[in-house]
Amino acid sequence: MSDIAGGIASDVGPVEAEIRRRIAAAGPMPVAEYMQLALTLPQHGYYVTRDPLGTDGDFITAPEISQMFGELIGLWMAATWKQQMGAPGNVRIVELGPGRGTMMLDALRAAQVMPGFREAVTLHFVEVSPALQQQQEQAFLGSKLPASWHASLDDVPREGPAIILANEFFDALPVHQAVRQADGWYERLIDIDADGIFVFTLAREPLRNFDTILPPQVRAAPEGVVFEWRTDTTAMEIGRRIAHTGGAALIIDYGHAQSGFGETLQAVGGHAFADTLTAPGTCDLTAHVDFQALGDAASAMGCKVFGPIVQSELLGRLGIRTRAAALKAGRPSKAAEVDAALARLIGHGRTGMGELFKAIALADPKLGVPPGFD
Ligand code: SAH
Repeated sequence: MSDIAGGIASDVGPVEAEIRRRIAAAGPMPVAEYMQLALTLPQHGYYVTRDPLGTDGDFITAPEISQMFGELIGLWMAATWKQQMGAPGNVRIVELGPGRGTMMLDALRAAQVMPGFREAVTLHFVEVSPALQQQQEQAFLGSKLPASWHASLDDVPREGPAIILANEFFDALPVHQAVRQADGWYERLIDIDADGIFVFTLAREPLRNFDTILPPQVRAAPEGVVFEWRTDTTAMEIGRRIAHTGGAALIIDYGHAQSGFGETLQAVGGHAFADTLTAPGTCDLTAHVDFQALGDAASAMGCKVFGPIVQSELLGRLGIRTRAAALKAGRPSKAAEVDAALARLIGHGRTGMGELFKAIALADPKLGVPPGFD
């Protein structure tokens, strides 16, 4: 094993080799840095090199389960544009992490029912993966709408109102972990042990003044528990934009409505859980979204926050049952498929996404309550 203890083994992938190289050079690295390298290391990261979605991939998302999901998001977008924003021209529709582009395609088709909507919008996709960007470009060739791709939200032009959408984007952003010890919170790091294996360890010094940034319900956490947090820059940027130039955002993901402690970092490959410290770069790594932290970060920039509400509530209020009935009436042979998708999207408990997934809306303070959040 000595060949990998010191640095780079010949049989590890390029992401793992880079992580080993950095730890050998600079010592143990924060969980967030490990996650960032695993997912988005240029040329080699998990998202950069593949399309992880669908039944043949590693996981499946709501828009890939059924067209109903994207269609309802499209109605949300069109209603927000017309009823809340007053149907302005030159609206940027921004999607963070569009995957295969499925949600936006379904959404635009449904939004056509709103006269004038198509003429008013330009599309902006924020995508880190060249592989997925290529798929998205193919998917939108036929849409005949002006579309552009950006590596981060900061690169999307700021002027003019925007409607910003994100489904299963925030869970892929790097998460930091700290562990409560008798004398404070210590950032959790990843190191290589004597056998050359990745292991969790703790920073030598506790995080300074960490209690002051912790939500009150987490401050009294017992020894040994893990607290996770993300840097809030994306949520702040969304909040800043829509507070200054108008518009609204709809963010859907799995996570908790209130900040709490507990470890949620997980690895998924081939529709099964995998080990977070094995073969980084070959599995998806995600952690639950802390919607309280996300909402607080955005509202600190001046926008209004609605929710979070559970996904079943949002989709129910936007009319998913009516839409399912119409689809079944139109194609009776597909009825069982529609019912299965409905159960998956709004079902509660372990098999459904309806309860674990939450939706939060962020809006220009001048606007009213976004559709589905009243
Ligand atoms: N929204 C899609 C895909 C979810 S998977 C769906 O619901 O099906 C996550 C998406 O975010 C992928 O498109 C991935 O490439 C992208 N992504 C992940 N991390 C990113 C980052 N840091 N910056 C930009 N895009 C990112």
